[in-house]
Amino acid sequence: MKLAILTSGGDSAGMNAVVRAVVKAGIIKGCETWVVREGYEGLVRGNTEAVAEQSLDETPIDLPDTSSTTDGSTNLVQNLRFGDGDLLRDGTGDHPGTRSLKGRYIVRVGFDDVKGWFAEGGTLIGTARSKTFRTMEGRLQAAYNMIKEGIDALVVCGGDGSLTGADVFRAEWPKLVEALHAEGILFSRISAEKVALHAHLKIVGLVGSIDNDMSMTDLTIGAPTALHRICEAIDNINSTASSHSRAFVLEVMGRHCGWLALLAGVSGGADFIFIPESPPTTESWEDEMCQCIQRHREVGKRKTIVIVAEGAIDCNLKPIKSEYVKDVLAERLGLDTRVTTLGHTQRGGRPCAYDRILPTLQGMEAVEALLEATPDSPSYMIGVQENKITRVPLMEAVKMTRSVSAAIEAKDFEKAMSYRDPEFKESFAGFITTSTLEQEKVPSEERMRVAIMHMGAPAGGMNAATRAAVRYCIRHGHTPIAVHNGFRGLLDDNIHELSWLGVDSWMARGGSELGTNRTLPSIDLGAIASKFQQHRFQALLMIGGFEAFNSLLILEEGRKHYPAFHIPMVHLPATISNNVPMTEWSLGSDTSLNALVDACDAIKQSASASRNRVFVVETQGGKCGFIATVGALATGASLVYTPEQGMDLDTLRRDVRFLKTRYTLDAKGRSEGRLVIKNESASQVYTTDVIQKMLKEEGGSLFDARSASLGHTLQGGVPSPMDRARAVRLSLKCMAFLEREHNKLLSSKTRHATPDSAAIITIQSSSLKWVPVQEMVAHADMQNRRGKTSWWAGIKELAELLAGRPQLVGLH
Ligand code: ATP
Repeated sequence: MKLAILTSGGDSAGMNAVVRAVVKAGIIKGCETWVVREGYEGLVRGNTEAVAEQSLDETPIDLPDTSSTTDGSTNLVQNLRFGDGDLLRDGTGDHPGTRSLKGRYIVRVGFDDVKGWFAEGGTLIGTARSKTFRTMEGRLQAAYNMIKEGIDALVVCGGDGSLTGADVFRAEWPKLVEALHAEGILFSRISAEKVALHAHLKIVGLVGSIDNDMSMTDLTIGAPTALHRICEAIDNINSTASSHSRAFVLEVMGRHCGWLALLAGVSGGADFIFIPESPPTTESWEDEMCQCIQRHREVGKRKTIVIVAEGAIDCNLKPIKSEYVKDVLAERLGLDTRVTTLGHTQRGGRPCAYDRILPTLQGMEAVEALLEATPDSPSYMIGVQENKITRVPLMEAVKMTRSVSAAIEAKDFEKAMSYRDPEFKESFAGFITTSTLEQEKVPSEERMRVAIMHMGAPAGGMNAATRAAVRYCIRHGHTPIAVHNGFRGLLDDNIHELSWLGVDSWMARGGSELGTNRTLPSIDLGAIASKFQQHRFQALLMIGGFEAFNSLLILEEGRKHYPAFHIPMVHLPATISNNVPMTEWSLGSDTSLNALVDACDAIKQSASASRNRVFVVETQGGKCGFIATVGALATGASLVYTPEQGMDLDTLRRDVRFLKTRYTLDAKGRSEGRLVIKNESASQVYTTDVIQKMLKEEGGSLFDARSASLGHTLQGGVPSPMDRARAVRLSLKCMAFLEREHNKLLSSKTRHATPDSAAIITIQSSSLKWVPVQEMVAHADMQNRRGKTSWWAGIKELAELLAGRPQLVGLH
């Protein structure tokens, strides 16, 4: 298969990661890979005849003898470089020397041409909005250009417009080929056999959009990075707003979709938001907003943050503009109010970890989908649901996306919300619960005293989860009680009631505001039970890692002897190691991956700048290889060592051979930095120091080696927006669970809690699941403090595959 990829519509972070993954996965699967510059416009312009010939003469650039490599390497080595990577990176299209991109819009690229691309923002192959492609003549020319180069499969990364264009192109393709044939354009230049070979076009779409405006997928490529930019801005504004007791109106992107405004509102702890899908319910929204903010001020808030989506409207579809919101706040409440419009800063910058991981997995899936496509199968869009990469019929997703706009225009806002994914709706409900002072108190007999505790090492999102739980409690009339310093603190009566205002600024705080340690309740179970009784705990929320799971298990088993533990108890996983069994993501793991990506980008830059250097980067994680493995995928590491797989001499010998082959194959005169990521417990013998010295010795004149241990920096400073948003969502679910189980207990005669009432909230593939702690034990490797299985096990191979390791030296 000859496949091409283009990026179209508005640019977004992560588009480069898509191009990199599609090119690399394509070559790994034996395809020839091309990129189309400037979106559909490039497809229409194609390559001028003279230049195309010139470029063919020059490819591929001189490759060293690779006879020592294994059979699997053939396609990779033949497709290593076409010398266009740097030109594309320059983006000038006009380069000194023999090669130039001038007049070449459809460019053959190799494995190394896209090396390191995913650390860069925007799209290196350019994007455009093409009027010509909207016409039949334009698409006819595009079809001609593709057939001329022999391309029979196309990956399109863009918004709903771009994906519609892709579908139109594919549906029309047989007609276009026929028309070209009839006009004799093809016949004169391309053989009838070639025409027959191009009877059908294979197309796959990936959604590149910062707005997260596509239905049937939880996330679009670039949206998480844009959210990062917005949250950074809110965090910065928060301190100045608080200092001067000011109000800020923040305008964010999102013409037809309020995801950015909503998630920024949730993660940034805003006071009020305006989104197109769910406008204020009354015409007098000004009163609604002012009442809400006035109440916040009355309880002592010194700052006000209002977020307005670009496409915000009132219930009569009249646009709500940030300047007007500012005037209302200033005039009616007398607040010193400023407007900040973030504009294009939201688009730019380095992609966050998730915008490297998701596009990489989706890009690889896109190539699979193309290889499996038949003339009868629909064009797919690659999406994601929770943690599962999905394929959905492209036009179904586009149709549903358009239905949102239609529903908004028809003022059917309920319908508009129903077309968004479940996470969107939950986030909206979560925002209302955590940001307003309105109360929906449950009957007094159903109210609970809820103990909240942090366990184990600090992780990003612990405080955000606590804030959400506290605000849920207050809204429903429960009493939230902080237990400081875990079970040790409980024994010392280190507890206090939390207030709505007291937790206000906790969204953006890293570490653990409650204090945390690893002490288990088994330290003195009887004394712990008596403290539960003394403080009249009626429900327990534990936020933490493996210790929290272990503690829950001890408390549940303790129910046999201590009635005080017959209360509902939940564990919300929060650990950078992500070692709680049966959950695919824990709070803090996204923050940690971002810390790893930031550190590795800097290390890789240094490694490239200072001669050919391999950096052995050591990560935390205990006996769990999550952070090292997924981190390797997010940083483009060449090799990864985990405790699950362990290390032995055979592996090391093979890996040294790979690095030598890899450096031999590098372009002459070009200095390459590479990363090896190693979990701290991958081996007791082959330590980071040993590996670094061994690589230095073996690298000889080919490469040098250094090491860096990231240690506690991986706990990250400020929690990532994804961790904050996830914390709110999961924490509110935990509170609802505690309420449900408490009511069950109230209506039971024995007042004995069932085993199901001590449970852990987990993310499993595409859904959230409650797992009773006793059930989880069967899936836990208690000795190594991790799950018996892990979803990321296969990612180690993917990461090494993308580095070319198995192809160049074989698997064994
Ligand atoms: P964004 O969400 O950033 O606006 P988008 O992909 O929706 O991205 P559009 O401007 O709508 O951006 O579409 C990008 C390009 O896709 C258009 O310039 C055009 O070339 C092509 N395109 C869009 N709709 C069609 C269509 N119906 N037929 C053919 N081509 C189309």
